Amino acid sequence: MKDCNQCGKCCTKYADGGLSVSAEEIALWEIFKPDIARYASHGEIWISPETGEQLQRCPWLRQVPKQNKFTCGIYLDRPDDCKFYPVTVQQMQEDECEMLEVKDLRKPKQAQKTLDKIMADSRPPYLSENYK
Ligand code: SF4
Ligand code: SF4
Repeated sequence: MKDCNQCGKCCTKYADGGLSVSAEEIALWEIFKPDIARYASHGEIWISPETGEQLQRCPWLRQVPKQNKFTCGIYLDRPDDCKFYPVTVQQMQEDECEMLEVKDLRKPKQAQKTLDKIMADSRPPYLSENYK
């Protein structure tokens, strides 16, 4: 399994209504990060503050100039759903995540263990336990 190469596919795929966020996360944004909270509405993200419509692209996704790489403009404050990605090798396959290598597809259980180790600091243990 390779390191994330910041291809941006995951952000592009999920940010148009595919991300979930907790009421607690929104409440914290409202207190400490009102600029982010502006893009939440009725428990959903990312919603245009101007029109109230679901945005088709995450407002925090930034392309690295002259490169096909992307960064997150709210990296430390991004939703848990973003922090916990990727959760499963199957999900990575479906999303064509570029961390996957051919050998991971040949041995998906081993690849899942490797992924769980890589992600251990980014997500709660129960998520990894669920997919053992
Ligand atoms: S908040 Fe950051 S990590 Fe989440 S979809 Fe947007 S750019 Fe990607
Ligand atoms: S799809 Fe995979 S490689 Fe691409 S940015 Fe997301 S985690 Fe990284």
